[in-house]
Amino acid sequence: MLSYEEALREVLAQVPEPKAVRVPLRKSLGRVLAHPVLADLDLPPFKKSFMDGYAVRSQDTTTAPVKLEVIGVVAAGRPSQPRVEAGTAVQIMTGAAVPPGADAVQMIEKTRPGGAETVELLEPVSKGENVAAQGNEVRQGETVLVSGRALGAAEVGVLATFGHQEVEVYAAPTVAVIPTGDEIVEVEEKPVFGQIRNSNAHTLWAQCHNLGVDAQVFPVTPDDPERTREVVSQGLQYDLLLFSGGVSMGEYDYVHRILEEEGVSIFVQKVAIKPGKPIVVGRKGDHLIFGLPGNPVSAFVTFELFVRPAVRRWMGFQSPCLPRVWGEVVTETRQKPGRKFFKQARTFWKGDKFRVEPIETRGSADLVAFSSANSLMVLEADVTCLPAGERVEVLLLDNYFDEGNEDETHSRG
Ligand code: AMP
Ligand code: MG
Repeated sequence: MLSYEEALREVLAQVPEPKAVRVPLRKSLGRVLAHPVLADLDLPPFKKSFMDGYAVRSQDTTTAPVKLEVIGVVAAGRPSQPRVEAGTAVQIMTGAAVPPGADAVQMIEKTRPGGAETVELLEPVSKGENVAAQGNEVRQGETVLVSGRALGAAEVGVLATFGHQEVEVYAAPTVAVIPTGDEIVEVEEKPVFGQIRNSNAHTLWAQCHNLGVDAQVFPVTPDDPERTREVVSQGLQYDLLLFSGGVSMGEYDYVHRILEEEGVSIFVQKVAIKPGKPIVVGRKGDHLIFGLPGNPVSAFVTFELFVRPAVRRWMGFQSPCLPRVWGEVVTETRQKPGRKFFKQARTFWKGDKFRVEPIETRGSADLVAFSSANSLMVLEADVTCLPAGERVEVLLLDNYFDEGNEDETHSRG
């Protein structure tokens, strides 16, 4: 049986090379840039005023308070005229081009109208003050975003600044979510004795969606070798196949066997973790196939531990795993030793550190209790008891981090 670390390393090593695709600017959010971006112009592109005020020659202000003749007005987007000569000033707006002759802008708050066509500068202003020289932020031709950069909102703005209507990013894999199980019925059905509604397909779809991937959800496949074989070949039209259920040791768990028969080479089967020991991962050509355990909590957790990193690596992310922090456990928690335990918890900021509240559930089917978790605390395999006050590593489940942040300045109180 592989350890978590070994299995994760294997999975990441099997992810196919990212491929670049062109997308419109706004579709690039949350993706990884596949080429460097160079500045196509200087920033700012002209000598620019940071303030509303008066463009002046700084040497004329050393004796402030001083009256200067106002010889014009320049607004943003307008030509920068007229030339500022000795003893004169040009009224200027934020973002406007500083007129020739001026080397500083005095902010309006430090001036007073001085009567007809004049202004009184109340304080001196030094050379360059409130003025950005052309190219002061970025020079034309400079690299502003390196290839491999993850694109957040600010990066989208940078791309726009330099005229990129389209962007090359790494392609996300296409994903098929394939629920299996004779007892599994669809959401709109009322389960009869022995049946369970299909939650996994929807959870897995949502987890994919959170990664920016639109998964195709297949109808439930019964526990039948031939039907499983058919759905494997349909699934192989997608880059990534996520089976749920059918990978345990039961007599009717066919997924693993059929995958092998269909030429999938399995490189992970069973990992020493809780929940989610029976997980199968294989590859066929450039397709990755995951057989996730059917229990809803196990399916959720194994997605976050293995599928998420694979999808994100596929999309070119350097750090594909869940973000980790250290926190202090709030209440004692115990476990049967043997496997590394990713235990559902609620993590929140209080005082000067993260606090971690373990959540008790009735096992790995208990999605209702699990759904109040926003994180997974990591208990090493040999730990039997973690007393309150101990430091613990937690993996943050992003997008579920709204509740319970008790930092007064950031929460609703
Ligand atoms: P399996 O991995 O197929 O042995 O299933 C383990 C448990 O998970 C069983 O109790 C199943 O009923 C349950 N299960 C399997 N698939 C789903 C699903 N799509 N939605 C909810 N529960 C499921
Ligand atoms: Mg099953």
